[in-house]
Amino acid sequence: MELSNIHLVKADITRMEVDAIVNAANRILLGGGGVDGAIHRAAGKELLEECKTLEGCETGLAKITKGYKLPASYVIHTVGPVWRGGNNNEDELLKGCYTTSLQLAVEHGCQSIAFPNISTGVYRFPKRRAAYQAIEAVMQFFNNSKSPIEVYFVCFDEENYRIYHELLN
Ligand code: ADP
Repeated sequence: MELSNIHLVKADITRMEVDAIVNAANRILLGGGGVDGAIHRAAGKELLEECKTLEGCETGLAKITKGYKLPASYVIHTVGPVWRGGNNNEDELLKGCYTTSLQLAVEHGCQSIAFPNISTGVYRFPKRRAAYQAIEAVMQFFNNSKSPIEVYFVCFDEENYRIYHELLN
């Protein structure tokens, strides 16, 4: 178990000074509410222009753009699953978001990446189960790849922060 590269912070992800921040986007990748809206506002309208060229993204996968006005060089847009009770492949799709985002980050030479709590907002994924899948996916990635990358779990709400704190300790 490799936890030394995993960090937990309570913060606004748009302020993170890392190589890549991950956006919990929707399949059309043209902006939305929650963390998606915050990232687009902070990055400026050039981000939307680049997103228009991407032609959307499948659930569980990710696409990368530049970060524009953000401190981060890149934004990795991933589409989390909408919670539909738990028997519709939600766990695997959520893990896929973390895994494909990490792969993209490493391919682009990133040494640090910050994740929001994907799917736990309007997509209603239960927070504790989502945190468990997120941590599992990152630890499996570390076990399967020798790429050194610092991973920040960025919690915006107190409940997610407490859950991650408990699971990571
Ligand atoms: P989803 O549609 O994937 O559920 P949301 O944006 O509704 O996406 O919520 C995902 C998570 O992002 C929630 O836990 C929410 O608290 C968090 N969040 C919202 N704004 C920010 C922000 N500025 N920085 C980090 N996390 C945020």
